[in-house]
Amino acid sequence: MTSHAQLPEPTARIVAVQDDLVTLAPLDDAPLIKNEVVYIIPHGPERDGKPREYLKAEVLRVRGSTAEAQVFESTAGVRVGDRVIQSGEMLSVALGPGLLSTVFDGLQNPLADIAAEYGFFLPRGVLTNALDQNRKWAFEPKVKSRDPVRAGDTLGTVPEGRFEHKIMVPFSLTGNWTVERVREGAFTINEVVATLRNERGETRDLTMVQHWPVRRAIPEKLVRSGQCERLYPNEPLITTLRLIDTFFPIARGGMGCIPGPFGAGKTVLQSLISRFSAVNIVIVVACGERAGEVVETITEFPQQPDPSGHGTLMDRTVIICNTSSMPVAAREASIYTGITLGEYYRQMGYDVLLIADSTSRWAQAMRETSGRLEEIPGEEAFPAYLDSAIKGVYERAGVLRTATGETGSLTMIGTVSPAGGNFEEPVTQSTLGTVKTFLGLSSERAYKRFYPAVDPLLSWSRYHTQLAAWYDKNIGPDWVPRVEEMIDLLKKGDEINRMMQVTGEEGVSTEDFVLQQKALFLDMVYLQQDAFDDVDVSAPLARQQETFDLVYKIARTGFAFDGKDAVRRFFTEQTSLFRNLNYAADGSQDRRDLLEKICENVRSAPRHVPA
Ligand code: ADP
Ligand code: MG
Repeated sequence: MTSHAQLPEPTARIVAVQDDLVTLAPLDDAPLIKNEVVYIIPHGPERDGKPREYLKAEVLRVRGSTAEAQVFESTAGVRVGDRVIQSGEMLSVALGPGLLSTVFDGLQNPLADIAAEYGFFLPRGVLTNALDQNRKWAFEPKVKSRDPVRAGDTLGTVPEGRFEHKIMVPFSLTGNWTVERVREGAFTINEVVATLRNERGETRDLTMVQHWPVRRAIPEKLVRSGQCERLYPNEPLITTLRLIDTFFPIARGGMGCIPGPFGAGKTVLQSLISRFSAVNIVIVVACGERAGEVVETITEFPQQPDPSGHGTLMDRTVIICNTSSMPVAAREASIYTGITLGEYYRQMGYDVLLIADSTSRWAQAMRETSGRLEEIPGEEAFPAYLDSAIKGVYERAGVLRTATGETGSLTMIGTVSPAGGNFEEPVTQSTLGTVKTFLGLSSERAYKRFYPAVDPLLSWSRYHTQLAAWYDKNIGPDWVPRVEEMIDLLKKGDEINRMMQVTGEEGVSTEDFVLQQKALFLDMVYLQQDAFDDVDVSAPLARQQETFDLVYKIARTGFAFDGKDAVRRFFTEQTSLFRNLNYAADGSQDRRDLLEKICENVRSAPRHVPA
């Protein structure tokens, strides 16, 4: 991001070192600024008259004449007296063409480039460029000389893969500007493509890249200046997962969480959501999980074809990767880096999905740092500001009308991995107090291989009201009440199940047994979805509706079977037919035959004559 040549001279020095926390003091009276990025130069021989290492750090706290900074790398060998460069910049990311398809670490170091140059791990203290410095991009201007522009307006576009990447007036620029000059052609990201001038006669040369501090939301200032507008999320994000879309929807531009114990299927569920959701761009923040899992994410996920039919998933994906073996401080930053990239593409009018796996590891990084700063701890030694930090992260999701009148969205879904699957712990609780969709995974369901192992009795969506108008218009006015009725059925089935565990099947009435079987049937054929079947893996909304209507009809029918064996026989047969129906492609003869058989079965089943 920053090259050696651009860095100023050292203006401070180290006065104390404790793990990855250093205390620094200015040499003269250089100001110390919270959240400023500094570079520590460990003493030692230079190379070509330049220090060998620059250890990146972020100032966390300023106290009187000293400041404490967390170092994003190993501090081995750092000692009192080492010189410190104050960059004058906040922790920032480079925003420009070439982000898509890239794997970065939490500080936006491109891992593939590093691997090519140094092997898989970045050696300590090396400065890298986030974006390719040599690649040329075909810039097509969308403004002309003398046009008025403001922050966020589109200057021009470049093709980035199959996307139109908008080059926008830097979000940090204040006031009204006029285009003095704009170029057309192929340029690298460091070449000037436009020059702006303001009323005071100041000029600004602009390249295709801008920098933005990761801890600040991009639209904040743009919303205040009227350049964009926050909108209420009022459409569902269609994931093609029945359990989510039908029962626990997430709004497009909304926020959801997936807590669950180890091995319950958080990562698999997130990757299904990111594969099939109706979004343009996906940002994956692989945060603090074991390296093996992350490598799987990076090597397998990207090769898969994009369900839209164009290219691979990686073409539309950015991966931010900080495994458990990488420095903890950078892990804390990685979520903010990911969100900022997501906000950037939202600002172009795209629908973006950010998935973070796992936010618990991120919170643990925060806890470690807070501990070192000796801050007053809150519950379970997490910092007292844990709750506001979690809210601060999720609240950057949302829907925007951008400067060019388009709508963009950023949906955020984080996993939480509480120790022992105990949802009472602080990170889960704070997250549940923030998000509006909760998909709680249970190890019991995972053990039974009921996938996705989302517990329908535990989970909730608070988006139903917000999405009601959309459902009315696109599905029908009775959709939500019917869905709620089915959740009630699951609850009743669960109660009867519990009773049966005590009393055995004989202890419940045939009527109750029918209810229990209906609930089990709904679970088996609708909630569960086979990720390994090419058809069932993704159920478009129209298909969900068709199946739901059938399941609902069966659930509502007052069957009158002669004994429990007859009940069981009926539902076992329906379950197997519906499973095959889920596997049968739309429009196939198979599907038509199955539908016919199901309808015939339901018609001919014995039922109570309505009084
Ligand atoms: P977590 O991230 O919660 O620790 P994973 O997502 O890695 O758990 O899932 C653990 C294992 O469970 C997977 O490797 C896979 O074998 C199985 N699994 C999880 N979800 C599914 C699913 N939807 N379909 C089939 N198998 C699954
Ligand atoms: Mg996982």
